Amino acid sequence: MGKYKPPKLKKYGKGSRVCIRCGSHGPIIRRYGLYLCRQCFREVAVSIGFRKYN
Ligand SMILES: [Zn+2]
Repeated sequence: MGKYKPPKLKKYGKGSRVCIRCGSHGPIIRRYGLYLCRQCFREVAVSIGFRKYN
């Protein structure tokens, strides 16, 4: 008795989002309604004509 294992709930709070493109955790950029990590954002940004990131 006494071995109670709570379910693994990782609460990231605000940072609970993941990249909608590659699913990676990390700094997510929310622009144009997109939730992308930095790398994916740069790739997508080019396709939507937004080059000047960073
Ligand atoms: Zn990504």
